[in-house]
Amino acid sequence: MNTRDLSANAPYVPGRGVEEVARDLGLDPDDLVKLSSNENPHGPSPRAAEAARAATEEAHVYPKSAHADLTERLASEWDLAPEQVWVSPGADGALDYLSRAMLDPGDRVLVPDPGFAYYPMSARYHHGEAATYPLRKADGFAQTADAVLDAYDGERIVYVTTPHNPTGTELPREELRALLAGVDEETLVVVDEAYGEYAETPSAADLLDEHENVAVTRTFSKAYGLAGLRIGYALVPEAWGEAYARVNTPFAANAVALDAALAALDDDEHVERTVETARWAREYIADELDAPTFDSAGNFVLAEVGDGAAVAERAQERGVIVRDTGSFGLPECVRISCGTEAETREAVATLNEVLADLERGAEA
Ligand SMILES: *Cc1c(COP(=O)(O)O)cnc(C)c1O
Repeated sequence: MNTRDLSANAPYVPGRGVEEVARDLGLDPDDLVKLSSNENPHGPSPRAAEAARAATEEAHVYPKSAHADLTERLASEWDLAPEQVWVSPGADGALDYLSRAMLDPGDRVLVPDPGFAYYPMSARYHHGEAATYPLRKADGFAQTADAVLDAYDGERIVYVTTPHNPTGTELPREELRALLAGVDEETLVVVDEAYGEYAETPSAADLLDEHENVAVTRTFSKAYGLAGLRIGYALVPEAWGEAYARVNTPFAANAVALDAALAALDDDEHVERTVETARWAREYIADELDAPTFDSAGNFVLAEVGDGAAVAERAQERGVIVRDTGSFGLPECVRISCGTEAETREAVATLNEVLADLERGAEA
């Protein structure tokens, strides 16, 4: 027997893992600088790691109270009702819950191009379809209401990412307001703030008080350094009431992740240090890399290097892993995650060598 026809469901292609690359190159993983998945170079908060270890001692029990505790904690941080906080396995899990809650078969979502691959994937997994709106390199990938509304055709969900992955650009507050004013009442605007902590711009979460058709997604994977535990959430309209109970996979998030997330929320210092390093690193990359870059409000920088695949491959041979953005439709670019100071300096030096070599090769 076979699965149903899955040919429209493209698999998600993550940045390659450090062990995988080390094995291929015959190197020690510790000798590699991995700046391809926007992970936290400082690791998790030590408090979160400790809480996670402790939680494993109770791993035989279904996570009920920890789920309620994290939901309430987040509700109070964001000044929302607990029913408006949808805890999920990664923010990706929240995208699935939003798809389940919103999409009838054949409904469409509108997503940015270039953009995060999982928006259209989640829609397709839930028997929906996806259309795109362009962010144009010629405009520095500027995000505006018009860029979205010019392509908008009554889609059920419109996704915006701010700061945007992979470009790093933000959707200014007045543009978000114009977008909300420009879509139908029955269109949900999802503001994905996976990199929100790194930006100066405040979260769109306060708009949930004024608008019935906006949701915000956030994650513990990036600034909180818990990508491996898969924990995130959506903030949803008040009117949705008990919808979460009707769409979530039972015990949405695991007990280890829930306790780690709660502890991470108590460690402001870790997040502050993380954000400070990223802000330093993105400036350093923009200043020192011998290639044009785009202004980023995230923990990564998009650089236009000519042949992104060749640059990524050669940098990898020298122990520096960056993301070739061909899969985002930007084969001329690479995305460089912000590392520690030492990692970032090493990555830029290596990339500059590679760029110089490729240029010499091109002249020869
Ligand atoms: C990393 C990322 C996410 C969420 O990742 P999770 O690990 O599933 O929480 C969501 N959106 C964007 C744009 C991202 O880059």
